[in-house]
Amino acid sequence: MAGADIILTRLLDLQDTNFEVVDCKVSDQEVVWQIQHREGAVYICKSCGLEHTTCHDTKTVTLRGVPFGKKACKWVIKFARILCTCKLRVRNEKLVFRASHHKLTQRFVDHVEQVLCSKMFTVADVARLFELDYSTVYKIDHEVLRRLVQELKIPDPINIAVDEKSFQKGHSYVTVVTDCDIQKVIWVSEGNRKESLDQFFQILGPERCAKVKTVSKDLHKPYAISCSEYIPQALQVADPFHVVKKLNKAMDDCRKELSVGSALAVGKRRLISSLQWVMRYKQENLPEKHLESLTKLAEINEPLFHAYLHKESFYEFFHFRPSEVKPAEKFLIDWIVDAWKSQLRPLQEFGEYIERNTQVLLNIILTGRSSAISEGINRKIQVLKSMAYGYRNINYFMLKIMQRCGVLGSMWKPANL
Ligand SMILES: [Zn+2]
Repeated sequence: MAGADIILTRLLDLQDTNFEVVDCKVSDQEVVWQIQHREGAVYICKSCGLEHTTCHDTKTVTLRGVPFGKKACKWVIKFARILCTCKLRVRNEKLVFRASHHKLTQRFVDHVEQVLCSKMFTVADVARLFELDYSTVYKIDHEVLRRLVQELKIPDPINIAVDEKSFQKGHSYVTVVTDCDIQKVIWVSEGNRKESLDQFFQILGPERCAKVKTVSKDLHKPYAISCSEYIPQALQVADPFHVVKKLNKAMDDCRKELSVGSALAVGKRRLISSLQWVMRYKQENLPEKHLESLTKLAEINEPLFHAYLHKESFYEFFHFRPSEVKPAEKFLIDWIVDAWKSQLRPLQEFGEYIERNTQVLLNIILTGRSSAISEGINRKIQVLKSMAYGYRNINYFMLKIMQRCGVLGSMWKPANL
């Protein structure tokens, strides 16, 4: 072999294989490597691994390799077919550098996996970047995530948050468990039933379950039952994120009740319906341009304006410190009483909800839990869902949550190591 070929063979990491580079053609668009057997090579059966010294015939396959800058890279490989005893027919020789499911080199697949796991690029980005089929990159992404999840070791959680997320417009759900201390998703399972969460606790095992101190969740009943069964010692905390969401929903219903079907003039009704988002702002976050609409609201619909102020006052609750549980409780009671006085049904219903769940709400104060983690994770999952191509496959959706919001992506290493 000429000196240059040795270098080229090394460049493709073929030095420990039965193959070597015999030629290389470079054009503006691509680099084409011609690869053949070395002298005296043995052929290994792809199916059974048996070594053969003679071959039946040879064939050629073209694989895509890691590109050189902007040049695509093709490996044209002359390989052997052998008559092996493992099955009485012609078998292909094993090519160690070929990826198992694609016409790509394993090095290329490793590279694509690494880029996908960096979480900086979507499947579509990576397909464009490497000029690969979307479906090929999708398959690589799915495969690598399936591999990584096999190796996943769930950390020992102390404080967890449990939440359900809809999939395919609410036709099905997944259960998402977050470790609040490392602020990462550590588990996702199918469905939003008790069994979905049971699965997590069963994998965790009784010893680690006993170490869980707090669990924050929306007040979805099946989860509460599962928690009482597996982690009875853990303090159940309402998730502030869900409380605020419920409050906003109540506010929205008030808006509908007081505008739609009311005796107000059309222009005023229109203003009220345009306030849907304005009323969700916390007052301190309210952009200047919306202030005017609120002032107008005070003029045309006083009850709704009061409802808005009443909603606003609820946020004060989250400012109590762990040492102020008693005053916080009094605050809740006062708030409920005022909600009753407002005579607005949605606010009253929210008041009843607080009354039913006072203790888990007070546990928010006791544990100093904020909604920041749930909000962050929720936002990321929302982004995931809005990324095109939907997630027709629920398993892939679950793996993507584990990758984008959890520990899965950072675990990447090549498959064969
Ligand atoms: Zn064989």
